[in-house]
Amino acid sequence: MVQRFFETDEPLMRAVLDWAFHRIVSGQDPITGARPADELEADLQNSIVADGIGGREALRRFTDVIVPATRAQDHHMNLAYVPAAPTPASLTFDLAVSAAEIFAGTWETGAGAIHAENQALAWLAELAGFGQGAGGTFVQGGTVGNLSALATARERARATRGQHRQRWAIASTSQAHSSVRSAARLLDVEVIGVEADERGRMTGQALRSTLAAAGDLVPFAVVATGGTTNAGIVDDLAGIGDVCEDTGVWMHVDGAYGLAAMAAPSARHRFDGIERADSFIVDPHKWLFAPYDCCALIYRDPGWATMAHAQKAEYLDQLDRSEWNPSDYAVQLTRRARGLPFWFSLATHGTTKYGEAVERGLRTAIDIANGIHAADHLSLVMEPDLSVVLFRRDGWSAEQMLEWSDRNATEGTVLIIPTSWKGTSVFRICIVSPDTRADAVLGVLDTMRDPA
Ligand SMILES: *Cc1c(COP(=O)(O)O)cnc(C)c1O
Repeated sequence: MVQRFFETDEPLMRAVLDWAFHRIVSGQDPITGARPADELEADLQNSIVADGIGGREALRRFTDVIVPATRAQDHHMNLAYVPAAPTPASLTFDLAVSAAEIFAGTWETGAGAIHAENQALAWLAELAGFGQGAGGTFVQGGTVGNLSALATARERARATRGQHRQRWAIASTSQAHSSVRSAARLLDVEVIGVEADERGRMTGQALRSTLAAAGDLVPFAVVATGGTTNAGIVDDLAGIGDVCEDTGVWMHVDGAYGLAAMAAPSARHRFDGIERADSFIVDPHKWLFAPYDCCALIYRDPGWATMAHAQKAEYLDQLDRSEWNPSDYAVQLTRRARGLPFWFSLATHGTTKYGEAVERGLRTAIDIANGIHAADHLSLVMEPDLSVVLFRRDGWSAEQMLEWSDRNATEGTVLIIPTSWKGTSVFRICIVSPDTRADAVLGVLDTMRDPA
């Protein structure tokens, strides 16, 4: 071994790996979470000093102070926001991906890794019914995925419809994810609101009338949602596909959370019409059992993405542009091969097992919904499309709901956080883990019989 400038002793390296191994096998205590910065400063103390505090002490502060001040996202009783459920295989392999230090932005440096990532993307593209030419890349998350896709959509509009004096606009409903409005702000375009139906869905008809009434605005893209974050509702993709075909508007499907359910035979029909989309995203870090952070961004015709995203510079002149350079398809240049933990897990377990795991989450949501339906102190807001369940505790105020939620979070029983639906406070559950059990969740909901 060459003498290295930065030395790390082997026992320390093993201690770090042992901690990681133990975390993957045993998970994290659910009674952990955020703390105020002044408390953290007192406990963590100044860790950045001229002579270093040493690896052993830094590791101690990580295990004793840092990790306990984070939320156990992958705990099976964490049902808040969209939790996580990475497989042990994917988490372990993430360590290997780090160790391999692959620059996966360009083919020249990352070919093997990119090819494997592309196989995983091809499975998703095939589930959506996209043809052979489809492709894309893995980005950090749905936010970057949506932004990258919408930048591509505008590039196509500019190229095919010329520069307009009017303002470009994106059409979406109020149920679209906040990242869509954020992308519009960054792209400096407007958002035209499409009226959602009773269940919060965008229909083709509503989209058609909205586009017809756009006035001075020029709609270049519609963002349909394949599983809204708040209620798990899938828009009318087939109807939207018809309108996009007629109007030449780019159809983007934001399926960060819900498109995972394309892998479940019982839910696949909800996404009929997605084969007509120009692009879609799905986050394997949400419901495809991969670790943070990982979003699959796929284009039906990736050529437009290259026009929007390829970076040109003297030092990039030698790049082989005939091969697949992930940096050409999204807002990124340097990137880790963040799709590889997902690839490894999928390759290890197979697509059938993946489908079964998603089916389990869907089944759990139905069982919970049925249990809520049967309970006389609870009422279901609506039947779930996917694995988000909204319900009320009859007679409770928003404060009582929060109190119940806080108490159970502190005790580590369950993490269920209220949201709002049509202006009123309701409880919201989101299932992604195949290990979440309906009877366990219903057991906790039974405690809502008691006064808050
Ligand atoms: C979570 C989510 C996003 C944002 O994804 P990140 O990975 O958090 O950036 C976008 N759209 C939908 C529908 C989501 O559920």
